[in-house]
Amino acid sequence: MSQDCIFCKIIDGELPSRSVYEDEDVFAFLDVNPLAEGHTLVVPKAHDPRVGGLPDDVAAAVFTAMSELTPAIERAVDADGMTVAVNDGEAAGQEVPHVHGHLVPRFEGDGVGPIHSLQWARPDLDDAALDDVAESIREAR
Ligand code: 5GP
Ligand code: ZN
Repeated sequence: MSQDCIFCKIIDGELPSRSVYEDEDVFAFLDVNPLAEGHTLVVPKAHDPRVGGLPDDVAAAVFTAMSELTPAIERAVDADGMTVAVNDGEAAGQEVPHVHGHLVPRFEGDGVGPIHSLQWARPDLDDAALDDVAESIREAR
């Protein structure tokens, strides 16, 4: 547990939350400032700021919980789909530095659009540049 982390305090019961799921490694609760009805946060119980720091079994447990919760949330709020997303790192807009998956219910005609509709400045990459990026990622693993 990290002493000054609000999600650690929520997991510990020191701060209140509307919990919807819990197992050995994972806790899930409603977002206090929801983007849509049923907006849920799914977090590993062990504090870790970034996705890349999660042990494999914890990463798997978080995603398993997200996949189990998604149809349940959809049924509960009568949603037609789900945006499943993680803001990983400050540059990506992460405000709480404890890994959390967002499950945001989506509705036909909600007009929000896909993640692709964020205001990206798309880079102009030709085939050779894309080949280079793929190779760099393979080499960096
Ligand atoms: P981030 O921008 O880090 O991906 O998202 C943080 C999320 O945590 C936001 O959607 C915000 O509404 C939610 N949040 C922040 N503080 C609390 C809290 O004390 N309780 C709950 N339930 N959600 C919180
Ligand atoms: Zn934490």
